[in-house]
Amino acid sequence: MASLYIHYPFCKQACHYCNFHFSTKLDKAKTFHELIIEEMALRHTLLQGYELESIYFGGGSPSLMHPEAIGSIIQAATDFFQLQQSVEITVELNPDDVNPTYLNDLLNQGVNRVSLGIQSFWSSELQMMNRAHNADQAKQALKDCAQYFNNYSIDLIYGMPGSSLADWQFNLDQLTAFEIPHISAYALTVEPQTALAHKVAKGSVLLLEEEVVEAQYYHLLEQTQQWGLDNYEFSNFGKVGFYSINNTNYWKRKPYLGLGPGAHSYDGRVTRSWNVSNNALYVKGIGSKSVAISQEILSKKDCFNETVMTGLRTQWGIDRRQVEKEFGLIYAEYLEQQAQSHLIDENLFWDGDNLLVTDKAKFLTDGIAADLFLIALES
Ligand code: SF4
Repeated sequence: MASLYIHYPFCKQACHYCNFHFSTKLDKAKTFHELIIEEMALRHTLLQGYELESIYFGGGSPSLMHPEAIGSIIQAATDFFQLQQSVEITVELNPDDVNPTYLNDLLNQGVNRVSLGIQSFWSSELQMMNRAHNADQAKQALKDCAQYFNNYSIDLIYGMPGSSLADWQFNLDQLTAFEIPHISAYALTVEPQTALAHKVAKGSVLLLEEEVVEAQYYHLLEQTQQWGLDNYEFSNFGKVGFYSINNTNYWKRKPYLGLGPGAHSYDGRVTRSWNVSNNALYVKGIGSKSVAISQEILSKKDCFNETVMTGLRTQWGIDRRQVEKEFGLIYAEYLEQQAQSHLIDENLFWDGDNLLVTDKAKFLTDGIAADLFLIALES
């Protein structure tokens, strides 16, 4: 099983925290799907022999694409790949692009899941982050998505500068009227070379204290549990049957092909690659039938560390038997040994052969995973 990722590299305006690849120069935006299809023709063999379980339109802002352009990429995927009958086809949406006609047209093009980038229901926070939508648009877009799609997700950001636990609660309160099947919630992070990083360095934005961020996260855990959502990955919450297939495939280290500038690919074994993060160079590359791609070959140590990180962040944990099978007994023993102090501190526990993070230590997951990484031993 494998996934296909489409990166649509255009946005109306730059959100202050964002470090994804995108351009606000929209002159090539209308016909960009044609380039994606050309790249698909060039590179589809990377997934030869695999069935596609998911197709994901991310970006950038894929909701700037006309539904027919999205449909033409889906059609090309059916020509180049074997699609599973229940293939998940997701499009990321910005609330300001959503309206009933657009959603209905997406359904008609074969899209069966949407992911709505709400981020916050506070206009003040949205403005501070330079999002293109306001709180009213977020609410209306949520209503529309819930009306047209059974399978939909929303994105929220916690840890906003100046926000209290009550402010975060207000965001979650806006969801109580909906039977939300899936939520992705991320802590605001300051990425280098973003407008937010600049403001933080200048002192015009003060980041939230870690204790408040942590309290907001644990509150989210409680609230989503009450709504019947599983915290199946650190930042992802879904009802059974509504987990994101696309994201789950990443965490389970299945192969994926990424098309578009800046898109990443993985062959499911040891090769990760990424397209040039520059629209003009990408266009030129497609013109000469060769996209500029960089790649890295993962060592056994890299693969082990990825298994540790992605496993620990999910509800499935790290499967010790799988580690032994894939990497050898010495790696499984290393894992057990490194886990020891966290087991004593009740940050980790064994569920059969699976090593998992306890509820009380969830917020510390990345740090705990780093303690289990293989650094000293040679692969
Ligand atoms: S809309 Fe998304 S991709 Fe575009 S700038 Fe904002 S966060 Fe980044």
